[in-house]
Amino acid sequence: MRETKIFLDARRSTELWRGDAAVLGGSCAGLEAALALRQRRPDARVCVLEPNANLGREITLEWRPGHPGGAVGKTIRKTCAELGIPNSANPDLVGATLAVDDFVQDHGLAAYVKVQPTRPIFTASGMLRGVEVVGKSGRQLVSAPLLIDATPGRIFSRTLLGLVSRQPLAAGRALYLAGVDDMPSQPIAIPASLGLKDNLAFPSPASWEHEAIVRFALDIAPGESSGDTYAKGLRTAIELAAWLRENVPACAQATLVDISPLAAFTYAPIQDDLASLYPHGIYPLPELDEWSVELTDAKAFAARAMKAQAPFPLPTIDEEDILVSSELEADPAQDLPEIVLPPAPAHMHEGAEVAVAGFGVAGAFAAAAAAQEGMQVTVLDPASMPGAIATIGRVHSYYHGLPGGLQDKVDELTDQCAARVSSRVRGYHPMARAEVLMKEMLADNRCTILPEHTVFGVIKDDNRVCALLSAADDGYHVFPCQAAIDATGDGDVAAAAGAPTTLGREGDSAPQPYSYTPSLIREGNILHHHNFDAGWVDPTDTTEFSRGHFDGRRTIRDMGPFTQESHYCTIGSIIGLRESRFLIGRENINFNDFMEGRVWDDAVCSSSAHHDNHAMDYAEESRWAWEHVIMFGLWHYACHGQIPYGALVPQEVDGLLVTGRAIAVDHDLHQLVRMQRDMQVLGEVSGVAAAEAIKGSVMVADVDIKTLQSNLAERGVKPLEPRKAMDCSTTELLAALTCDETDDHAKKMQRGLAMWRLSKMKGEAGAFWPGFFQTATGQARFAGAVAAALGGHDLPAVRQCLSEVLAARTTEPRLGIKAAAPFLVAALALAEIKGADAAGDLAELLAEWKPGDVLTPPDLLLIIKALGQTGNREVAAPAIRNFLAKWPDEPFAIPLWGVRADQSATSFRHTVIIRAARSLIALGDKSAAELILPYMKDRRLIVRRWARKVYAEGQK
Ligand SMILES: Cc1cc2nc3c(=O)[nH]c(=O)nc-3n(C[C@H](O)[C@H](O)[C@H](O)COP(=O)(O)OP(=O)(O)OC[C@H]3O[C@@H](n4cnc5c(N)ncnc54)[C@H](O)[C@@H]3O)c2cc1C
Repeated sequence: MRETKIFLDARRSTELWRGDAAVLGGSCAGLEAALALRQRRPDARVCVLEPNANLGREITLEWRPGHPGGAVGKTIRKTCAELGIPNSANPDLVGATLAVDDFVQDHGLAAYVKVQPTRPIFTASGMLRGVEVVGKSGRQLVSAPLLIDATPGRIFSRTLLGLVSRQPLAAGRALYLAGVDDMPSQPIAIPASLGLKDNLAFPSPASWEHEAIVRFALDIAPGESSGDTYAKGLRTAIELAAWLRENVPACAQATLVDISPLAAFTYAPIQDDLASLYPHGIYPLPELDEWSVELTDAKAFAARAMKAQAPFPLPTIDEEDILVSSELEADPAQDLPEIVLPPAPAHMHEGAEVAVAGFGVAGAFAAAAAAQEGMQVTVLDPASMPGAIATIGRVHSYYHGLPGGLQDKVDELTDQCAARVSSRVRGYHPMARAEVLMKEMLADNRCTILPEHTVFGVIKDDNRVCALLSAADDGYHVFPCQAAIDATGDGDVAAAAGAPTTLGREGDSAPQPYSYTPSLIREGNILHHHNFDAGWVDPTDTTEFSRGHFDGRRTIRDMGPFTQESHYCTIGSIIGLRESRFLIGRENINFNDFMEGRVWDDAVCSSSAHHDNHAMDYAEESRWAWEHVIMFGLWHYACHGQIPYGALVPQEVDGLLVTGRAIAVDHDLHQLVRMQRDMQVLGEVSGVAAAEAIKGSVMVADVDIKTLQSNLAERGVKPLEPRKAMDCSTTELLAALTCDETDDHAKKMQRGLAMWRLSKMKGEAGAFWPGFFQTATGQARFAGAVAAALGGHDLPAVRQCLSEVLAARTTEPRLGIKAAAPFLVAALALAEIKGADAAGDLAELLAEWKPGDVLTPPDLLLIIKALGQTGNREVAAPAIRNFLAKWPDEPFAIPLWGVRADQSATSFRHTVIIRAARSLIALGDKSAAELILPYMKDRRLIVRRWARKVYAEGQK
């Protein structure tokens, strides 16, 4: 075992998985080995554990040339044929990524992605118990008495034996080019100034015409860090793409689409006797020069594995070497058995001034800004390049958000870099952006970038975070720091540090839907990103996060297109998470603050967008969101508001700032406060603030706000003047209700805002309504009736107007995008004033429904919820029960956002059932809890957790 001075404390945790064997690393060789185990013992439970997002590492992440052959190769050919992807000497990158998912499913293997194996765990008598892993739930155990090590360079085994000869010799990388003509298939001589190994680049055709993969390798200097290697690889890839465009006629019109996410490292041949691990149940796969031989050998080797085991020497630990840490914990709703993990050895690093967890745009800007302010910075992220969703995740476009600060320069440099590597791209160039971010961060050598590190815990001194804990392929690491920045987007550091956080929306705690965005080539070789939703995932849980990757990729398969004119060519190695944990900060902002133009003394920047919620089902959203979107048609209303510094500052923890999409907003405001521009600015704010705290020898919570504000202003970051929405007289508000379909967007938004303001005028404050209805007609009368009803003004004119719209089943015009059909809006508004008497109207709508109806399943949810709120058990309960009985097999499917109507739709049945049960329980029908039983163990954590919550309500 490696000698180390420091141990993380023993801790109570959970068992992630239990079975007969675990394969560490989802490479093609690892997959073949896993299959061999199953073939040898068909009842064996075998699990594959992969730290990256994709299985099939050599092809899908390193883009190694040639076809793997074997069982994996067979599945790739089959999947590509099914998808209509042309045959190729090299596997298609998208087809292969989807195929390796098929492989684990077809062969009954369990697989987890985004889990980092860290060390074996032995019983007290020295027998192998399994492997400790780190994922979104922190440290957990995978119980398996046999481990096959398929990690790159067999790093797991080498670390275990304390072998330090792991330094790779060379790193292979690859480019994906579109828009090439007659690319030579011979190696291309490249000038020595680009620094390629042997000064050669190796082109090969991709599956699609006019596309090619160009590979190259770089020598690695002794002692070079993996962060330096990845930075060098990115820079060289950009230079190579530019050189090819300038010097190879076939590439003159090429566009650099992508760069391989991981390096294919070459290691010195293994001299060490890794076979000494066999008796302990750990089998490092042989590494062979020839890939196909390695794959064949992997199978034979795995089949021979599992022999007698001998006790393994356990490390001796001095009490004083144990660090007491605070770490992420698994969700109890996972129902995982509890275990105790023994103290874990960890590598202690030299202290940085600022440690940043997360390398998305927020983290990259935080690091760059802190470095510009003179700080030594360490950045930790599982990914190998900056930008996350904006670069690796393929969302290369700005949508709303505000300019200013460091990003203006980054934008300019991105355009300059893009001009060298691309002929045509829609949006900004993602790889140019990554390179520019990397360069900005590396300026003055103040940043140490450590890819392949997942932060899962902290060390605290009292309440101050003084070190980050990470897991990498060689075990655990401790990074002391004076200030830490949580830019994980998921609030992982804040949660590990014990800062209070929230997750998801009011009803079912679901965050916004996520997507999985592949790069798309269409319209004559133009690079696009294709953004469509894949479903829901809770990214704070290891099992669930892994599931999200597999389910997300399945949607890509369903989406197509796979034709020469329009096809995906690479898949991002991260999923597109819109939303995750939110900090509960020293100050917390909500949508109303933006609508009311709230001014904050410690405002540091602003954010701007519309309520860009991708959810379709507003029954589970807040009442505020229901009013805003469904009743007033304001989904598309764009507004801005101020962000106070206190929204980055945790309540109960110091030494830590939270930036990016996890700052202290609520779920409703987050729909708006998440755009790339605003995340970049927030990153810059946190980097500058951390630097100021350190320079001023104060806690980050105590930085001098005035100095921070003026420093930020000098950098071009300033909050906007707040704007109060529709801050005008009642007469003007009523006038704004007069608006119809011929009016422009701005006028329609004014109408929605007027409805919102007027609906807040309760009781006496709404004394103008009778007068209004004496003269109002048409659309204005309807809008007024909705607003009056939501304000609780039960007037005959209001009832009459809404009843007429309901009776006529008026479907158009709607009040805005995502607003319900007018007759449903009328029914819901009537329910607000009629109470129990509204049950009849709502029951009628439910009884009328049939698949394909103008009312969608999310509309049904609104009706069922409203029925529950009527309190009219006699009418409402049978209406709901009859509805469920009438449609026992109906999936209540709706397409997710961005998914075409002719493509697969997602079943909403579970939502309808759980919502129905909840309404029935609210009506006093406690037996309805039984409806939920099938969902109490649903494979999706969000569904399971929600079902349990409603079931518990039924038990009260
Ligand atoms: C599908 C989709 C489409 C979008 N479309 C647009 C658009 O068109 N225009 C626009 O302006 N905005 C858009 N957005 C919003 C915007 O892109 C994101 O909100 C923004 O990029 C988030 O930046 P971030 O740095 O806060 O988080 P992220 O990009 O999520 O980065 C977080 C980083 O932290 C790392 N990390 C996570 N956990 C850990 C850990 N435990 N330890 C270490 N590192 C960790 C991750 O690997 C990642 O690199 C979209 C978002 C999505 C998901």
